[in-house]
Amino acid sequence: MRDADERDCVVVGGGPGGVVLAYLLARQGLRVTLLEARADFARRFRGDSLAPAVMDYLDALGLGEEVLARPHATADAFVWHSRLPGGGERAYRIADYSTSSTRHPHYVLVPQPEFLGMVTARAADLPGFRMELSARVNELVESDGRVVGVRYRAAGGDVREIRAPLVVGADGRFSQLRRLGGFETEELGAGLDILWFEVPRRPGDPDLSGLDYFAVPGRAIVALGQGATWQLGYVIPTGTVAQAREAGIGPVLELARDRMPWLGDRLDVLTAGDGRADGGGPGWVEPAFTDLTLLNVRITRLPSWYRPGLLLLGDAAHVISPVGGNGINIAIADAADAGNTLGPVLAGADPDELDRACAAFEVRRRAVSDVEQRAQVRAERGSLERMRRGDPRPVWILRLAAAVPAVARALGRRSASAIAIPPPSGAVLAGAEGARRDG
Ligand SMILES: Cc1cc2nc3c(=O)[nH]c(=O)nc-3n(C[C@H](O)[C@H](O)[C@H](O)COP(=O)(O)OP(=O)(O)OC[C@H]3O[C@@H](n4cnc5c(N)ncnc54)[C@H](O)[C@@H]3O)c2cc1C
Repeated sequence: MRDADERDCVVVGGGPGGVVLAYLLARQGLRVTLLEARADFARRFRGDSLAPAVMDYLDALGLGEEVLARPHATADAFVWHSRLPGGGERAYRIADYSTSSTRHPHYVLVPQPEFLGMVTARAADLPGFRMELSARVNELVESDGRVVGVRYRAAGGDVREIRAPLVVGADGRFSQLRRLGGFETEELGAGLDILWFEVPRRPGDPDLSGLDYFAVPGRAIVALGQGATWQLGYVIPTGTVAQAREAGIGPVLELARDRMPWLGDRLDVLTAGDGRADGGGPGWVEPAFTDLTLLNVRITRLPSWYRPGLLLLGDAAHVISPVGGNGINIAIADAADAGNTLGPVLAGADPDELDRACAAFEVRRRAVSDVEQRAQVRAERGSLERMRRGDPRPVWILRLAAAVPAVARALGRRSASAIAIPPPSGAVLAGAEGARRDG
């Protein structure tokens, strides 16, 4: 093993939370290393929907235009389409985002790999930023009851060590750092699982709203309108994947064809992983159940996110359900708060001050994730209950909201701002120029 590297902060996990935090700290002139277990950012079926408030935040950092320069789509509302038992159709515009932001009155759907690649490319211009891919952290380094660094297996297989006053675990829903740090978890339960797949989107396809939920008695399918593809999610009650597997892909495609007839023969091929937008060529396969990607929806709460020297954020600290599309947004909002809070104290490197800053961060952000998780538990239970009863309509309170456009707009504003993203601090804003690499 080589001698340990000394840094101001180690961020473990190159998802949205980790890359944004590493960028914000490097922007303030700190020496930060981002360790990511995978060899690249390629990932499918992750949260891709940037909330209006996140787009406003990225604008403030000077990154908004770069996001919009990538292939993307927008979603101005969440619409629940019901096929009623008597045969009628009804579309409920439940959350309308059109008054959520002046510049970005919609969610922006950008593939997560594009977003991560863009932020890390910007971070690479900053002298304090280092990133290692294929670097899997598997051990904490501790001294006198504090975490003081990590050990990890690097790309070539050798074991390396980095020391820093703070290690941030941003390593996702199955967080290794959470386990290594001995944090407890509490499962709040979840009622639904989702089987994701993708088909090409073509010019002339109906726009839909961008975030659409099609319910028929007992079943449902979600459609997210990405730039080049339709990302479709077949919703099943938790614990019924074995039955779904036995039934095969037939019922999944049949529901998609029934609710989105314009997809037609595009459902005869599914992407095999490279995300190319024209069906039928290499990279596309005959559909089979094994081409579906299962998201076991979980809602996991942690009684504590911090112990001296180790802080968790994003999914590592609070696994949330895709209901509301805010997984990526809460991870970015956590990073925004941590960037503001930790930048000045990491520069000072006083352990007591660092502990106080981390504790205050946890209190603020837990308030946000607790509210979101409680709302998700209620929403999932309600949806599951109605699915079991064969009622494809949303719960009455949401039907009422859809009937009054002002209420739907208020719900849209509430859901899009529930992530409580703070504006960038003066140090983050001022840091950009001072910290940039020369040339
Ligand atoms: C299949 C699927 C579908 C989803 N769909 C949606 C959706 O439709 N809407 C929505 O809002 N959310 C969705 N989510 C959730 C959303 O993607 C997450 O909430 C969001 O990405 C969380 O960001 P994060 O930075 O906290 O963690 P992640 O994005 O999970 O990133 C964690 C990173 O840590 C890395 N890592 C893990 N262990 C280690 C280690 N030991 N050492 C180094 N690196 C490590 C991982 O490789 C990963 O890159 C989905 C998630 C999945 C899995």
